[in-house]
Amino acid sequence: MKLPFLLFFALCCTLCIAQPYTVVIKGGHVIDPKNNINGIMDVAIADGKIVQVAKSIDAKGAIQVVDAKGLYVTPGLIDMHTHVFFGTNLDQTYSNGPNALPPDAFTFRNGVTTIVDAGCSGWRDFETFKKQTIDLSQTRVLSLLNIVGSGMRGGKFEQNVDDMDAQQTADMARKYPEFVVGVKLAHFNGYDWTPTNRAVEAGKLANVPVMIDFGGSTPTLSIEELFLKHLRPGDIFTHCFGQLKTREPILDVTTNKVKPFVWEAQKKGIIFDVGYGGISFAFSQAIPAIKSGFYPNTISTDIHTGSMNNAMKDMLNVMSKFMAMGMTLPSVIKASTWSPAQAIKRPELGHLSVGSVADVAILKLHEGKFEVRDTGYFGFFDYTGHKIEGKQKLECEMTIRKGKIVYDLNGIANPVVVTQQPRS
Ligand SMILES: [Zn+2]
Repeated sequence: MKLPFLLFFALCCTLCIAQPYTVVIKGGHVIDPKNNINGIMDVAIADGKIVQVAKSIDAKGAIQVVDAKGLYVTPGLIDMHTHVFFGTNLDQTYSNGPNALPPDAFTFRNGVTTIVDAGCSGWRDFETFKKQTIDLSQTRVLSLLNIVGSGMRGGKFEQNVDDMDAQQTADMARKYPEFVVGVKLAHFNGYDWTPTNRAVEAGKLANVPVMIDFGGSTPTLSIEELFLKHLRPGDIFTHCFGQLKTREPILDVTTNKVKPFVWEAQKKGIIFDVGYGGISFAFSQAIPAIKSGFYPNTISTDIHTGSMNNAMKDMLNVMSKFMAMGMTLPSVIKASTWSPAQAIKRPELGHLSVGSVADVAILKLHEGKFEVRDTGYFGFFDYTGHKIEGKQKLECEMTIRKGKIVYDLNGIANPVVVTQQPRS
């Protein structure tokens, strides 16, 4: 070899060595449903991205090494139904109001790296929401624009059909495609298809899915008609396990069977989303549905100041409930990572492929026999008081967002604190 080539070769090697991994996660059980990975693997991160997933990665030179032995390593969780347009307009509930939450205050301690705000803002106030919440959060915050121009202000504002403008909504969605992932219908009370049709029209104009929270009416609007006539494949039905007098449930309560057209709708591509919330989830719907093999496509919390302090609590508690009802760990992880990423048409999220953004959750699965007042079980209840027992419960050990450790419950990173922050 000629000397200049050797010099060039040596320089390249030096450059390689000069760029060590920022974080290497060692010995964890990786569950990455998109890539069909379910086993012990190491994960290496550099420059905010996943750079290697392999049986054994040499962590020499890494800025931080994480000991994940006995823990599960998954893509950062995606909660696609949250309420985060918090603010000080005290009479505006979820729209720049006190019922919504600051994202970073609840996400990272739960393994969540991406959330979707479900309709707190409409086209009139989205830019305020963006400026004060989306732009200032470390959590990735996306939005489903409310079909109501003034968003989730509560009371008469959300019942104002005249403020449901499909064109204006679609225009705002198209203006911010990086942040707006769809259109939301919420809280409308009345036997009227107009709000649904306006939301779907906006969705068509902006080429994004709609999420339907069917509000309420007496008599109830037909969900068969909703699924088979109004919604398109890819549209989302949230609160899918709700059982309220003013909404038609998916499970026939007299036979305890999932209605035939619901199976048909899921096959057609309607996304059934949990959207747990305050009173929008009942075990009386979910348990028989899951026993018969009807699983939600996506698990989400509908977190707000009310639901988080009631039966719902947080994302990992909801995921643990679905395991207690019979879903496997890989299936609840899929419904909280890759499936929501696809539902919101963000296929670059929700997995640990090499080259993708390093959003990672590290979870501990507690086994009931060692826990909770020697009963051997964890207790899970819904808002009606229906209680079930589960043997397993998930807890967040660590969250990594864009390659940076943003939450570490027990100091499993070595060193725990670094002064040299990973580049982002
Ligand atoms: Zn909601």
